[in-house]
Amino acid sequence: MTAVLELRGVSKTYGTGAAEVHALVDVDLAVGDGELVAIMGPSGSGKSTLLTMAGTLELPTAGEVFIGGQPISGLSRNEQARIRRRSVGYVFQDFNLLAGLTAAENVSLPLELDGVNAKTAHRAALSAMRQLDIEEKADRFPDELSGGERQRVAIARSIVGDRNLLLADEPTGALDSVNGEAVMRMLRNACQAGIAGVVVTHDAQLASWADRVVFLRDGRVVDQTAAPMEPESLLVQGS
Ligand code: ADP
Repeated sequence: MTAVLELRGVSKTYGTGAAEVHALVDVDLAVGDGELVAIMGPSGSGKSTLLTMAGTLELPTAGEVFIGGQPISGLSRNEQARIRRRSVGYVFQDFNLLAGLTAAENVSLPLELDGVNAKTAHRAALSAMRQLDIEEKADRFPDELSGGERQRVAIARSIVGDRNLLLADEPTGALDSVNGEAVMRMLRNACQAGIAGVVVTHDAQLASWADRVVFLRDGRVVDQTAAPMEPESLLVQGS
């Protein structure tokens, strides 16, 4: 099976000479359809750089990034931008909803910016919102939604349309543990619906919601573990 995202021998060096920083060194990572991978590591270990490479925002210094089996370096800048717009969804720490747009308009915005007509974009937005169980709030404005509902809308926006790669940089960073777990559960569910996800987190408890945890140190993958047991299965066992 072709991985949705694959990094093969990826290195990224910033600066030159004495200022040279090896942000990523020979990283291999494959994330399949339906899989959620958590990235952990100390500050400066390369987590954001890895997301930048995965999102095709920059090209690696060495190695190759593949999205849906397609090597990114061989594409023109326009084609790279098209993959970013159509295949990749981002979830931000502060969720970044636009206050002047309804929930459905926020979710359909990435499609409309890509030239999809309003009616088709709206239909796709409602479908993504249905997956996140927030469809009934489609016409509300962000300040008429609870914090948890806003998170659902933001995650719906990251999977709207044909997006199949979800990238999240510390999406739980500003949340308490209960809301943090809720967001991880939603990301996990979004991935189960046929999307590959990569989430950066500092929190080992939250990382255990992922199928796999990848640890970075000094730009290298130092360990990869399958989560031994999902928090939900522990709950079931305990009940
Ligand atoms: P993390 O997300 O784990 O904190 P980063 O990926 O942000 O780590 O950074 C990894 C290393 O690369 C750090 O030493 C950082 O200072 C450096 N770095 C990241 N981005 C840049 C950049 N645009 N220019 C120069 N150095 C950078």
